[in-house]
Amino acid sequence: MKIARFEHQHSVHLGIVDPDQGVIDLLPHEAGAADPMIALIERDLAGERPRGSGERVALKDVRLLPPIARPRKNILCVGKNYAAHAAEFTKSGYDGSAKSLTDPIPDDPIIFTKAPCTMTGARDDVLPPWELSHEIDYEAELGVVIGRPGRRIGRGDALAHVWGYTVINDVTARDLQVKHKQWLLGKSIDTFCPIGPWLVTADELDYRNIDIRCWVNGELRQQANTRDMIFDIPAIIATISGSMSFETGDIIATGTPAGVGVGFKPPKFLQAGDVVRIAIAGIGELENRVK
Ligand code: MG
Repeated sequence: MKIARFEHQHSVHLGIVDPDQGVIDLLPHEAGAADPMIALIERDLAGERPRGSGERVALKDVRLLPPIARPRKNILCVGKNYAAHAAEFTKSGYDGSAKSLTDPIPDDPIIFTKAPCTMTGARDDVLPPWELSHEIDYEAELGVVIGRPGRRIGRGDALAHVWGYTVINDVTARDLQVKHKQWLLGKSIDTFCPIGPWLVTADELDYRNIDIRCWVNGELRQQANTRDMIFDIPAIIATISGSMSFETGDIIATGTPAGVGVGFKPPKFLQAGDVVRIAIAGIGELENRVK
């Protein structure tokens, strides 16, 4: 099942998406929930499966919004989780976390966060602060959304805590990432996390075999499969939950494959007017213009 949060005729709704038919079946209106998608996930976990109202709107007539409006913590992100990307990033000279140029693979997951104010919709513009940065980069990533809360989750139990998946562009200001040593500011600029176009429930995908592709202005830049992850989703969940509790609606960006702009010589950073398109098989696409 695919569930979107979207704006239609000046109000915000949730709905069950049928991308083949190009329609969304509206879910009964949520009143009072701080975050309607998190409320829906919590009811689903309690056994109340989402059911459309029968009232349909065309996908082309809606503005897709970040599926979760207010996650309870920052978006949790994994750095250097594909070997070819770890190598390109270390060679780029922008990687302060590398052990050495010849050994770019981390021994343990690198975890950082993006602030929730970065989230923007699947078709919305990315708005770089050009006065601060001219080294804006894209990172196509599979997003994981947590359902059942928990802490100290073992590998074997990890998938039971995954409610669904989405597509994330972990947009990054490389110069700020280097300048401020820690990655938070370079990763947390408003609009620097296009996310969506909706959530797909975990039963529809095999996390070990999901194709990820990214194009800039139609040129294919990233192409990989989740089987190439250094730390798989159970390992990521076990690692993060060893330190902090997961809550329903928490979002994990699982790392980007090779082919980011900084990996090219010279780097291919994003410019105003560029369009970044990310497709993840079984989920859908993001397409965002850089203003
Ligand atoms: Mg990333």
